[in-house]
Amino acid sequence: MDSGVVVDFAHLGVTYANGVVALSDLSLTIAADQAVCVVGPSGCGKTTLLRVLAGLERATQGGVQLSRPATLAMVFQQGLLFPWLSVAENISYGLMTRGATPPQCRAAAREWSERMGLQRFIDAYPHQLSGGMQQRVGLARALAVNPDVLLLDEPFAALDAQTRVLMQELLVDLRRQGLCRSLLLVTHAIDEALLVGDRVVVLSARPGRIIADVTPQVAHSQSFDEIRAQPAFMQAFTTIWQLIRHEVEAQLREEVIL
Ligand code: ADP
Repeated sequence: MDSGVVVDFAHLGVTYANGVVALSDLSLTIAADQAVCVVGPSGCGKTTLLRVLAGLERATQGGVQLSRPATLAMVFQQGLLFPWLSVAENISYGLMTRGATPPQCRAAAREWSERMGLQRFIDAYPHQLSGGMQQRVGLARALAVNPDVLLLDEPFAALDAQTRVLMQELLVDLRRQGLCRSLLLVTHAIDEALLVGDRVVVLSARPGRIIADVTPQVAHSQSFDEIRAQPAFMQAFTTIWQLIRHEVEAQLREEVIL
């Protein structure tokens, strides 16, 4: 494996027990410090890809390899916080399970709650938080273990439009600060993929195969508004949308014929 590669999916295929072929012959590498976003039509196998990397689903063909023992952490669409734990305890949960001492856990919870603007809520419980705040806690919990690869499954899809943009900006800002290294983000939102990703991988309709691997030529140092106004952003958005639209239309035609 190339020394700069952290994750290597090789000829990955996943067929579920009910016969659904979710992924077929998919090869994809993620380099160190690279943010890869995966987009594609609904049901094309995006979540399955993430779950194979997380060890939650088994490959039925090919597989995935890590270049070295790597720490992975996952952020789900719904925060999936522990309702009986406080914000501080949720944030430090991953550290605690890895053997960190109570003072280390408290220090990490303080540090991450400050980074995430959650200082005032450190003793609150998940049900006392808005959806956006819950996702901040989920992100803090994942990043507190300093993962080599952060996996995000539609992390902002359940949030309102304004909160979603703020969370996307937060994620990009954390990467700029070097607090979030390699990242694999699955989303159906093309703009999110282009704003967050160094690379955007486009999957076909099920079974998901890679039909494009786009490196957006946008300056990530700029604000989101400036990035959105760039011709390169609009061009990449249109190209990816046309590809996905073609896949969805082909799938619909097939369903009508069947
Ligand atoms: P996406 O994230 O792109 O929407 P998924 O990876 O969730 O797609 O699912 C891909 C396909 O596999 C879908 O058709 C879905 O219904 C099916 N699928 C997902 N999980 C299972 C499962 N545990 N058993 C059977 N089929 C599944």
